Amino acid sequence: MRAASPPPAAIDLEVDMRRIDAPKRESLSIGGAEIEPGFKGYIPLPIAAMLTGGETALPLHCVRGTAPGPVLAVQACVHGDEPQPVRAFGNVLEKIDAKKFRGALLMIPVANPFAFANFSRQSPDQHEQTNLWGAFPGNSKGTLTQRYAAKIREELIDNADFFAEFHSGGRAGRIQNRVDIDPRVKEAAGKKARAMAIAFASGGAGLVHGVSLSKASAPGYALSRGVPAISVEIGGSYLPEVEEALYRRCLEEGLWNLMVHLGMLAGRERRSRLTYFEASHRAEVNPSSGGYLLSRKTRFADIGGRVRKGQLLGEMLDPFTLEVTEELRSPADGVLFFSRCSGPVEVGNKGFAIATRTKKI
Ligand SMILES: [Zn+2]
Repeated sequence: MRAASPPPAAIDLEVDMRRIDAPKRESLSIGGAEIEPGFKGYIPLPIAAMLTGGETALPLHCVRGTAPGPVLAVQACVHGDEPQPVRAFGNVLEKIDAKKFRGALLMIPVANPFAFANFSRQSPDQHEQTNLWGAFPGNSKGTLTQRYAAKIREELIDNADFFAEFHSGGRAGRIQNRVDIDPRVKEAAGKKARAMAIAFASGGAGLVHGVSLSKASAPGYALSRGVPAISVEIGGSYLPEVEEALYRRCLEEGLWNLMVHLGMLAGRERRSRLTYFEASHRAEVNPSSGGYLLSRKTRFADIGGRVRKGQLLGEMLDPFTLEVTEELRSPADGVLFFSRCSGPVEVGNKGFAIATRTKKI
């Protein structure tokens, strides 16, 4: 595929590529076609013909800079009810000038269009694995979910030098703002993923969470193939514009800072003070029965803020008797790293999570 106008000669962006140990790609092939330097465009990748008569596709955006550099692949809406990254992806893409860009950005705003259309975590296959998050490496001759996973593996992960997946709070009202990395991965991919997480979180998210990343997820699969990968959890669904904008800014500035870190954009990498914690030192406050959560922690500033042992985080209202049935209090001092907006919460859903020990990973 070719850019609309002939690509200009490669330019020196004054980026010190020595700090990034990444291959400078000579070629990049997407959907069986070579992507020329200077290309910026939309490439829907066909998946299958559907019973409804149409062809379904994986929506891929690609920018290939005129200068060589690494390939960064990013995707969002693996869970269809987590739309927060979509606007941010569009804004970041719009700002990138292929003539002032090194390497390539591969971007999928909606990895599971069927789950997205249903505002659901699951795709509607109704058999086998219907959660795309855990369907990797996929099967190009399998179910719809498996075919999407296979296409993402072939076109995104197999092409990537670095990989990032973006989640957000979904339809049950969760809000969050952090980067997940897998501290078990000790080799080069783990070290580079940690550096990616620091660069991203320095854009405003602020929290770096050490947690096991399943090999059946895209980031876990990428790591198992030696590709540095992170998983981001940011924002929520249907937030008021003023709150949504704050998370969106963390996402846009984090992604931009990550590309500066990787040498894809000129500029100085921003470094912020971050909070690190691990899954092994977390406390959860979950409702003991379903009901209507009256949350005390619904604001952007609450995520990453400190809470005290015994502090009231929310109450559960029985939606039938209209009585408050439970108080949800923090069991420990710590940092609140996810919360929920007020609304219906089913039994088994998590309420709040607190990092009880913060320590550099
Ligand atoms: Zn998710």
